[in-house]
Amino acid sequence: MSKVLYPGSFDPITRGHMNIIEQASVLFDEVVVAVLCNPNKRNSMFSVEERVDMIQQLYSSVDNIMVVSSSLAAVDIAALYDCKAIVRGLRSFTDFDYEVGMQQINKEISKGAVNTVCLFADKEYRFISSSMVKEVFSLGKDILSYVDPIVQKKMYLKKKH
Ligand code: ADP
Repeated sequence: MSKVLYPGSFDPITRGHMNIIEQASVLFDEVVVAVLCNPNKRNSMFSVEERVDMIQQLYSSVDNIMVVSSSLAAVDIAALYDCKAIVRGLRSFTDFDYEVGMQQINKEISKGAVNTVCLFADKEYRFISSSMVKEVFSLGKDILSYVDPIVQKKMYLKKKH
């Protein structure tokens, strides 16, 4: 069975991320979405548990997409869930430069056991990022073109508290 790991911050998950997850779920038997607990990213909007919960709600009726969280290195999460590859989404040259370095490091530290596959979001989603969504939301604008209604609702609830 081919399993792929999709690691990221997902703070919050956007339609760009969802487009990558859904493409990967067609190419692989199972997609393991891993919300990373990254201590370097302190100003997060949602806790790791809230991010996992949102993604689980989005894919509750899909059999081959599972959601986990971890503070391990991506290659170690991949080994834990028996994934031979990591999937990453490419939006721009900046993403490309970063991902070229990451895939090299991940291949080295996993001693060749974990490869990286890059996918492109469909063009209408390619410019979306979690930080852009948060910025537009903070200006009081509608963000439904960028996130699922489940995510927008959680953002409104967060703002109220
Ligand atoms: P990270 O902090 O690891 O970059 P993100 O949650 O920002 O985590 O992104 C996870 C992955 O999803 C990365 O590979 C990123 O490039 C990709 N990604 C994010 N938004 C999009 C998008 N709109 N289109 C394609 N890929 C995307």
